[in-house]
Amino acid sequence: MKKDKNKKSFDFFLIVIIILLVSLSCIIILFFHNNLFFVKLNYNTSLILIKKPELKHPDYCKNIKHSKRLPILMYHKVDTKTPTEYWVSNEKFQAQMQILLDNCFTPIFLNELYEYYLTGANLPARPIILTFDDGYENFFLNALPILKKFNFKSELFLITDYIGETNKWDSLKEQNYRHLSWMQIKEMQKSGLVNFESHTITHPKLAKIPLNQAKQEIIESKQILEQKLDMRINFFSYPYGSYNAETKKQVKDSGYLGAVGVYQKINFLNDLDMLALRRLNIERDITNKEFLTKISGEKKIIIDISDQKMKLLAGNTLISEYIISTGAKATPTPRGEFKILTKNKLGWSSLYNSYLPFSLQFFGNYLIHEVPYDKAGVRDGLDKLGQAVSHGCVRLDIGDAKEVFDWTDIGIGVVVQE
Ligand SMILES: [Zn+2]
Repeated sequence: MKKDKNKKSFDFFLIVIIILLVSLSCIIILFFHNNLFFVKLNYNTSLILIKKPELKHPDYCKNIKHSKRLPILMYHKVDTKTPTEYWVSNEKFQAQMQILLDNCFTPIFLNELYEYYLTGANLPARPIILTFDDGYENFFLNALPILKKFNFKSELFLITDYIGETNKWDSLKEQNYRHLSWMQIKEMQKSGLVNFESHTITHPKLAKIPLNQAKQEIIESKQILEQKLDMRINFFSYPYGSYNAETKKQVKDSGYLGAVGVYQKINFLNDLDMLALRRLNIERDITNKEFLTKISGEKKIIIDISDQKMKLLAGNTLISEYIISTGAKATPTPRGEFKILTKNKLGWSSLYNSYLPFSLQFFGNYLIHEVPYDKAGVRDGLDKLGQAVSHGCVRLDIGDAKEVFDWTDIGIGVVVQE
Protein backbone atom coordinates (compact mmCIF):
# COMPACT_ATOMS: atom_id res chain seq x y z
CA MET A 1 0.00 0.00 0.00
CA LYS A 2 2.77 2.41 1.00
CA LYS A 3 4.78 1.33 -2.00
CA ASP A 4 1.76 2.04 -4.16
CA LYS A 5 1.41 5.54 -2.70
CA ASN A 6 5.10 6.20 -3.28
CA LYS A 7 4.76 5.10 -6.85
CA LYS A 8 1.78 7.41 -7.33
CA SER A 9 3.64 10.45 -6.02
CA PHE A 10 6.64 9.46 -8.12
CA ASP A 11 4.35 9.30 -11.18
CA PHE A 12 2.88 12.66 -10.32
CA PHE A 13 6.38 14.11 -9.91
CA LEU A 14 7.39 12.64 -13.27
CA ILE A 15 4.35 14.15 -15.00
CA VAL A 16 5.10 17.59 -13.53
CA ILE A 17 8.72 17.32 -14.68
CA ILE A 18 7.60 16.31 -18.19
CA ILE A 19 5.13 19.21 -18.37
CA LEU A 20 7.80 21.62 -17.21
CA LEU A 21 10.31 20.28 -19.75
CA VAL A 22 7.80 20.49 -22.60
CA SER A 23 6.85 24.06 -21.66
CA LEU A 24 10.50 25.05 -21.39
CA SER A 25 11.31 23.62 -24.83
CA CYS A 26 8.27 25.41 -26.26
CA ILE A 27 9.53 28.69 -24.85
CA ILE A 28 13.04 28.05 -26.16
CA ILE A 29 11.74 27.10 -29.62
CA LEU A 30 9.50 30.14 -29.77
CA PHE A 31 12.30 32.41 -28.64
CA PHE A 32 14.72 31.16 -31.28
CA HIS A 33 12.09 30.97 -33.94
CA ASN A 34 11.20 34.60 -33.37
CA ASN A 35 14.82 35.55 -33.38
CA LEU A 36 15.38 33.70 -36.62
CA PHE A 37 12.32 35.32 -38.08
CA PHE A 38 13.58 38.69 -36.98
CA VAL A 39 16.99 38.11 -38.53
CA LYS A 40 15.37 36.98 -41.74
CA LEU A 41 13.23 40.10 -41.92
CA ASN A 42 16.22 42.25 -41.21
CA TYR A 43 18.08 40.64 -44.05
CA ASN A 44 15.61 41.88 -46.61
CA THR A 45 15.02 45.49 -45.67
CA SER A 46 12.30 46.05 -48.22
CA LEU A 47 10.14 43.41 -46.53
CA ILE A 48 10.36 45.14 -43.16
CA LEU A 49 9.07 48.40 -44.57
CA ILE A 50 5.89 47.03 -45.91
CA LYS A 51 2.55 47.11 -44.27
CA LYS A 52 -0.20 45.81 -46.47
CA PRO A 53 -0.86 48.77 -48.76
CA GLU A 54 -4.36 50.10 -48.62
CA LEU A 55 -6.33 52.93 -50.16
CA LYS A 56 -6.83 55.99 -47.99
CA HIS A 57 -10.13 56.91 -49.64
CA PRO A 58 -11.51 53.86 -51.47
CA ASP A 59 -14.58 55.66 -52.85
CA TYR A 60 -12.55 58.51 -54.27
CA CYS A 61 -11.02 56.33 -56.99
CA LYS A 62 -14.36 54.85 -58.06
CA ASN A 63 -15.61 58.24 -59.20
CA ILE A 64 -12.65 59.83 -60.93
CA LYS A 65 -12.80 60.88 -64.58
CA HIS A 66 -10.75 59.12 -67.26
CA SER A 67 -7.52 61.01 -67.86
CA LYS A 68 -5.90 61.57 -71.26
CA ARG A 69 -2.53 61.82 -69.59
CA LEU A 70 -0.15 58.88 -69.60
CA PRO A 71 2.95 59.29 -67.45
CA ILE A 72 5.69 56.74 -68.12
CA LEU A 73 8.21 56.70 -65.29
CA MET A 74 11.87 55.84 -65.82
CA TYR A 75 13.80 54.21 -63.00
CA HIS A 76 17.27 52.68 -63.01
CA LYS A 77 18.34 51.41 -59.59
CA VAL A 78 16.45 50.93 -56.34
CA ASP A 79 18.65 50.23 -53.32
CA THR A 80 19.45 51.07 -49.71
CA LYS A 81 22.39 53.28 -50.75
CA THR A 82 21.90 55.98 -53.36
CA PRO A 83 25.33 57.20 -54.55
CA THR A 84 24.12 59.07 -57.68
CA GLU A 85 20.93 60.61 -59.00
CA TYR A 86 20.07 57.38 -60.85
CA TRP A 87 19.40 55.57 -57.59
CA VAL A 88 16.14 55.78 -55.66
CA SER A 89 16.10 54.49 -52.08
CA ASN A 90 13.85 51.56 -51.13
CA GLU A 91 11.93 53.82 -48.75
CA LYS A 92 11.37 56.52 -51.34
CA PHE A 93 10.35 53.98 -53.98
CA GLN A 94 7.81 52.47 -51.63
CA ALA A 95 6.46 55.93 -50.74
CA GLN A 96 6.10 56.69 -54.45
CA MET A 97 4.14 53.47 -55.04
CA GLN A 98 1.86 54.43 -52.14
CA ILE A 99 1.33 57.86 -53.76
CA LEU A 100 0.28 56.11 -56.98
CA LEU A 101 -2.17 53.95 -55.04
CA ASP A 102 -3.59 56.86 -53.03
CA ASN A 103 -4.10 58.93 -56.17
CA CYS A 104 -5.82 56.19 -58.17
CA PHE A 105 -3.01 55.49 -60.67
CA THR A 106 -3.01 51.99 -62.17
CA PRO A 107 0.26 50.69 -63.65
CA ILE A 108 -0.29 49.00 -67.02
CA PHE A 109 1.96 47.14 -69.46
CA LEU A 110 3.14 48.70 -72.71
CA ASN A 111 1.19 45.95 -74.48
CA GLU A 112 -2.02 47.30 -72.96
CA LEU A 113 -1.15 50.78 -74.20
CA TYR A 114 -0.59 49.35 -77.68
CA GLU A 115 -3.98 47.61 -77.56
CA TYR A 116 -5.55 50.94 -76.69
CA TYR A 117 -3.61 52.67 -79.48
CA LEU A 118 -4.73 50.07 -82.01
CA THR A 119 -8.31 49.32 -81.00
CA GLY A 120 -9.30 51.86 -78.37
CA ALA A 121 -9.42 49.08 -75.77
CA ASN A 122 -10.32 50.10 -72.24
CA LEU A 123 -7.68 51.57 -69.99
CA PRO A 124 -7.91 52.35 -66.28
CA ALA A 125 -9.02 55.89 -65.39
CA ARG A 126 -5.48 56.99 -64.54
CA PRO A 127 -3.02 54.74 -66.36
CA ILE A 128 0.71 54.90 -65.69
CA ILE A 129 3.67 52.80 -66.85
CA LEU A 130 6.63 51.93 -64.60
CA THR A 131 9.84 51.22 -66.52
CA PHE A 132 13.27 50.14 -65.29
CA ASP A 133 16.27 50.44 -67.61
CA ASP A 134 19.41 48.28 -67.80
CA GLY A 135 18.17 45.27 -65.76
CA TYR A 136 20.08 45.58 -62.49
CA GLU A 137 19.97 42.84 -59.89
CA ASN A 138 18.71 45.39 -57.36
CA PHE A 139 15.39 45.43 -59.21
CA PHE A 140 14.91 41.80 -58.22
CA LEU A 141 16.17 42.32 -54.66
CA ASN A 142 14.56 45.65 -53.79
CA ALA A 143 11.96 46.95 -56.24
CA LEU A 144 10.13 43.72 -57.03
CA PRO A 145 9.16 42.82 -53.43
CA ILE A 146 7.58 46.28 -53.13
CA LEU A 147 5.86 46.06 -56.53
CA LYS A 148 4.48 42.64 -55.57
CA LYS A 149 2.92 44.01 -52.39
CA PHE A 150 1.15 46.68 -54.42
CA ASN A 151 0.38 44.22 -57.21
CA PHE A 152 1.86 46.78 -59.65
CA LYS A 153 2.99 45.85 -63.18
CA SER A 154 6.34 47.01 -64.51
CA GLU A 155 8.50 46.91 -67.65
CA LEU A 156 12.14 45.89 -67.48
CA PHE A 157 14.51 46.82 -70.35
CA LEU A 158 17.42 44.37 -70.61
CA ILE A 159 20.86 44.71 -72.21
CA THR A 160 21.54 41.19 -73.45
CA ASP A 161 25.37 41.21 -73.20
CA TYR A 162 25.13 42.23 -69.55
CA ILE A 163 22.70 39.64 -68.30
CA GLY A 164 24.41 37.76 -65.44
CA GLU A 165 27.37 40.16 -65.70
CA THR A 166 28.71 43.03 -63.68
CA ASN A 167 28.19 46.56 -64.87
CA LYS A 168 31.19 47.95 -66.73
CA TRP A 169 29.85 51.12 -68.26
CA ASP A 170 28.34 53.30 -65.57
CA SER A 171 29.99 51.89 -62.48
CA LEU A 172 31.38 54.14 -59.82
CA LYS A 173 35.07 53.77 -58.98
CA GLU A 174 34.45 51.93 -55.75
CA GLN A 175 31.79 49.51 -56.89
CA ASN A 176 30.37 47.64 -59.83
CA TYR A 177 26.74 46.66 -60.03
CA ARG A 178 25.37 43.27 -60.81
CA HIS A 179 22.88 42.80 -63.59
CA LEU A 180 20.07 40.26 -63.38
CA SER A 181 20.85 36.65 -64.20
CA TRP A 182 18.76 34.56 -66.60
CA MET A 183 17.58 32.58 -63.59
CA GLN A 184 16.28 35.68 -61.82
CA ILE A 185 14.63 36.90 -65.01
CA LYS A 186 12.89 33.55 -65.49
CA GLU A 187 11.72 33.54 -61.90
CA MET A 188 10.21 37.00 -62.38
CA GLN A 189 8.56 35.89 -65.59
CA LYS A 190 6.42 33.52 -63.50
CA SER A 191 5.09 36.38 -61.37
CA GLY A 192 3.17 37.84 -64.33
CA LEU A 193 3.91 41.32 -62.95
CA VAL A 194 7.08 42.03 -64.94
CA ASN A 195 7.35 42.33 -68.70
CA PHE A 196 10.75 42.11 -70.38
CA GLU A 197 11.81 44.30 -73.27
CA SER A 198 15.01 45.12 -75.17
CA HIS A 199 17.59 47.79 -74.37
CA THR A 200 20.11 46.62 -77.05
CA ILE A 201 23.04 44.23 -76.78
CA THR A 202 25.78 46.59 -75.53
CA HIS A 203 24.02 49.88 -74.63
CA PRO A 204 25.49 52.18 -77.33
CA LYS A 205 24.20 55.61 -78.42
CA LEU A 206 22.34 54.38 -81.49
CA ALA A 207 22.37 57.72 -83.31
CA LYS A 208 26.17 57.88 -82.98
CA ILE A 209 27.10 54.47 -84.44
CA PRO A 210 26.93 53.18 -88.07
CA LEU A 211 23.42 52.16 -89.08
CA ASN A 212 24.25 48.51 -89.72
CA GLN A 213 25.71 48.26 -86.23
CA ALA A 214 22.59 49.91 -84.79
CA LYS A 215 20.47 47.44 -86.80
CA GLN A 216 22.31 44.54 -85.24
CA GLU A 217 21.80 45.95 -81.72
CA ILE A 218 18.08 46.36 -82.37
CA ILE A 219 17.41 43.03 -84.13
CA GLU A 220 19.69 40.62 -82.31
CA SER A 221 18.82 41.75 -78.80
CA LYS A 222 15.19 40.98 -79.63
CA GLN A 223 16.08 37.55 -81.01
CA ILE A 224 18.23 36.61 -78.01
CA LEU A 225 15.55 37.59 -75.51
CA GLU A 226 12.78 35.85 -77.45
CA GLN A 227 14.79 32.66 -77.69
CA LYS A 228 15.84 32.57 -74.04
CA LEU A 229 12.53 33.65 -72.55
CA ASP A 230 10.19 32.03 -75.05
CA MET A 231 8.05 35.16 -75.36
CA ARG A 232 7.49 38.00 -77.84
CA ILE A 233 9.64 41.03 -77.16
CA ASN A 234 7.56 43.98 -78.32
CA PHE A 235 9.18 47.13 -76.98
CA PHE A 236 12.53 48.85 -77.10
CA SER A 237 14.31 51.48 -75.04
CA TYR A 238 16.87 53.73 -76.78
CA PRO A 239 20.03 53.86 -74.60
CA TYR A 240 20.61 57.44 -73.42
CA GLY A 241 17.47 58.32 -75.38
CA SER A 242 19.70 58.46 -78.47
CA TYR A 243 17.92 57.80 -81.78
CA ASN A 244 17.29 59.37 -85.18
CA ALA A 245 14.77 58.86 -87.99
CA GLU A 246 16.71 55.85 -89.32
CA THR A 247 17.00 54.03 -85.99
CA LYS A 248 13.35 54.75 -85.28
CA LYS A 249 12.41 53.19 -88.63
CA GLN A 250 14.71 50.25 -87.92
CA VAL A 251 12.95 49.60 -84.61
CA LYS A 252 9.61 49.50 -86.40
CA ASP A 253 10.91 47.31 -89.27
CA SER A 254 12.38 44.85 -86.75
CA GLY A 255 8.92 44.04 -85.46
CA TYR A 256 8.78 46.11 -82.31
CA LEU A 257 5.40 47.65 -81.51
CA GLY A 258 6.90 50.68 -79.81
CA ALA A 259 9.87 52.31 -78.13
CA VAL A 260 10.59 54.64 -75.23
CA GLY A 261 12.96 57.61 -75.09
CA VAL A 262 13.92 59.80 -72.16
CA TYR A 263 12.05 63.10 -72.74
CA GLN A 264 11.01 64.71 -69.50
CA LYS A 265 7.43 64.96 -70.62
CA ILE A 266 4.07 63.35 -70.29
CA ASN A 267 2.28 61.43 -73.10
CA PHE A 268 -1.28 62.16 -74.13
CA LEU A 269 -3.48 59.22 -75.10
CA ASN A 270 -4.96 61.12 -78.04
CA ASP A 271 -1.52 62.01 -79.43
CA LEU A 272 0.84 59.06 -78.98
CA ASP A 273 4.13 58.56 -80.81
CA MET A 274 4.47 54.83 -80.19
CA LEU A 275 8.08 54.77 -81.48
CA ALA A 276 9.24 57.60 -79.23
CA LEU A 277 7.18 57.50 -76.06
CA ARG A 278 8.22 60.11 -73.53
CA ARG A 279 9.35 59.22 -70.05
CA LEU A 280 9.72 61.10 -66.79
CA ASN A 281 13.00 60.37 -65.04
CA ILE A 282 12.51 59.74 -61.34
CA GLU A 283 15.73 60.89 -59.75
CA ARG A 284 17.07 60.29 -56.26
CA ASP A 285 16.25 63.63 -54.68
CA ILE A 286 12.69 64.09 -55.87
CA THR A 287 10.35 64.90 -52.98
CA ASN A 288 6.97 63.18 -52.62
CA LYS A 289 5.27 66.46 -53.49
CA GLU A 290 7.32 66.88 -56.65
CA PHE A 291 6.67 63.26 -57.58
CA LEU A 292 2.90 63.65 -57.32
CA THR A 293 3.07 66.97 -59.17
CA LYS A 294 5.15 65.49 -61.99
CA ILE A 295 2.64 62.75 -62.74
CA SER A 296 -0.53 64.77 -62.13
CA GLY A 297 -0.49 67.79 -64.42
CA GLU A 298 -0.09 71.55 -64.61
CA LYS A 299 0.69 73.45 -61.44
CA LYS A 300 -1.77 76.02 -60.18
CA ILE A 301 -2.18 78.04 -56.98
CA ILE A 302 -5.71 78.60 -55.67
CA ILE A 303 -6.27 81.27 -53.03
CA ASP A 304 -9.62 81.06 -51.25
CA ILE A 305 -10.50 84.31 -49.51
CA SER A 306 -13.56 83.00 -47.65
CA ASP A 307 -11.78 80.20 -45.80
CA GLN A 308 -8.32 81.86 -45.85
CA LYS A 309 -6.65 78.86 -47.44
CA MET A 310 -4.19 78.33 -50.26
CA LYS A 311 -4.23 75.14 -52.31
CA LEU A 312 -1.47 73.89 -54.56
CA LEU A 313 -2.90 71.84 -57.41
CA ALA A 314 -1.30 69.71 -60.14
CA GLY A 315 -4.01 68.99 -62.68
CA ASN A 316 -6.97 68.12 -60.47
CA THR A 317 -4.80 66.66 -57.74
CA LEU A 318 -4.44 68.49 -54.45
CA ILE A 319 -0.74 68.60 -53.62
CA SER A 320 -1.00 70.57 -50.37
CA GLU A 321 -3.01 73.15 -48.48
CA TYR A 322 -1.99 76.06 -46.23
CA ILE A 323 -3.63 78.59 -43.91
CA ILE A 324 -3.07 82.14 -45.14
CA SER A 325 -3.80 85.76 -44.38
CA THR A 326 -5.17 87.85 -47.27
CA GLY A 327 -5.89 91.59 -47.47
CA ALA A 328 -8.01 93.37 -44.86
CA LYS A 329 -11.29 94.98 -45.96
CA ALA A 330 -9.65 98.38 -46.56
CA THR A 331 -6.70 96.83 -48.44
CA PRO A 332 -8.16 93.83 -50.28
CA THR A 333 -6.24 91.21 -52.25
CA PRO A 334 -7.21 91.54 -55.93
CA ARG A 335 -9.54 88.77 -57.17
CA GLY A 336 -9.11 87.08 -60.52
CA GLU A 337 -6.73 84.96 -62.56
CA PHE A 338 -3.05 85.80 -62.55
CA LYS A 339 0.35 84.26 -63.22
CA ILE A 340 3.49 84.12 -61.10
CA LEU A 341 5.68 86.92 -62.50
CA THR A 342 8.81 86.87 -60.33
CA LYS A 343 10.37 84.94 -57.45
CA ASN A 344 12.51 86.58 -54.78
CA LYS A 345 13.94 84.69 -51.79
CA LEU A 346 14.04 87.81 -49.62
CA GLY A 347 12.06 90.85 -50.74
CA TRP A 348 12.02 94.26 -49.02
CA SER A 349 9.06 96.62 -48.73
CA SER A 350 10.17 100.24 -48.32
CA LEU A 351 6.53 101.20 -47.83
CA TYR A 352 6.18 99.08 -44.69
CA ASN A 353 9.90 98.78 -43.81
CA SER A 354 9.59 95.01 -43.81
CA TYR A 355 11.41 92.02 -45.11
CA LEU A 356 9.22 89.76 -47.25
CA PRO A 357 10.74 86.26 -47.29
CA PHE A 358 9.98 83.88 -50.16
CA SER A 359 8.11 86.40 -52.29
CA LEU A 360 6.10 85.34 -55.31
CA GLN A 361 4.78 88.31 -57.31
CA PHE A 362 1.45 87.65 -59.06
CA PHE A 363 0.09 91.15 -59.84
CA GLY A 364 1.63 94.64 -59.53
CA ASN A 365 2.92 95.01 -55.98
CA TYR A 366 0.90 92.06 -54.77
CA LEU A 367 2.91 89.11 -53.54
CA ILE A 368 2.56 85.78 -51.83
CA HIS A 369 5.18 85.70 -49.05
CA GLU A 370 6.04 84.57 -45.52
CA VAL A 371 4.73 86.70 -42.61
CA PRO A 372 6.90 89.83 -42.85
CA TYR A 373 9.41 91.01 -40.24
CA ASP A 374 11.04 94.38 -39.52
CA LYS A 375 14.71 95.23 -39.04
CA ALA A 376 14.52 94.11 -35.40
CA GLY A 377 13.20 90.75 -36.60
CA VAL A 378 9.69 91.30 -35.22
CA ARG A 379 7.05 89.45 -37.25
CA ASP A 380 3.84 91.17 -38.27
CA GLY A 381 0.64 89.12 -38.08
CA LEU A 382 2.16 85.74 -37.23
CA ASP A 383 -0.68 85.19 -34.73
CA LYS A 384 -3.34 86.33 -37.22
CA LEU A 385 -2.97 83.66 -39.92
CA GLY A 386 -6.43 82.52 -40.99
CA GLN A 387 -7.69 86.14 -40.83
CA ALA A 388 -7.87 88.74 -43.60
CA VAL A 389 -5.56 91.36 -42.06
CA SER A 390 -2.77 92.00 -44.58
CA HIS A 391 -2.05 95.11 -46.70
CA GLY A 392 -3.17 93.10 -49.74
CA CYS A 393 -0.42 90.51 -50.07
CA VAL A 394 -1.03 86.85 -49.24
CA ARG A 395 0.85 85.81 -46.12
CA LEU A 396 1.99 82.28 -45.30
CA ASP A 397 3.33 80.76 -42.10
CA ILE A 398 7.06 80.31 -41.46
CA GLY A 399 8.13 77.17 -43.26
CA ASP A 400 4.99 76.97 -45.41
CA ALA A 401 6.19 79.93 -47.49
CA LYS A 402 9.44 78.19 -48.39
CA GLU A 403 7.55 75.03 -49.39
CA VAL A 404 5.25 77.00 -51.68
CA PHE A 405 8.20 79.04 -53.03
CA ASP A 406 10.24 75.93 -53.87
CA TRP A 407 7.28 74.23 -55.56
CA THR A 408 6.26 77.28 -57.63
CA ASP A 409 7.62 78.01 -61.11
CA ILE A 410 7.44 81.42 -62.77
CA GLY A 411 4.48 81.49 -65.16
CA ILE A 412 2.14 79.11 -63.32
CA GLY A 413 -1.46 80.18 -62.80
CA VAL A 414 -2.78 81.83 -59.64
CA VAL A 415 -6.52 82.07 -58.99
CA VAL A 416 -7.75 84.36 -56.23
CA GLN A 417 -11.39 83.60 -55.46
CA GLU A 418 -14.00 84.32 -52.77
ZN1 LIG B 1 20.20 52.38 -70.21
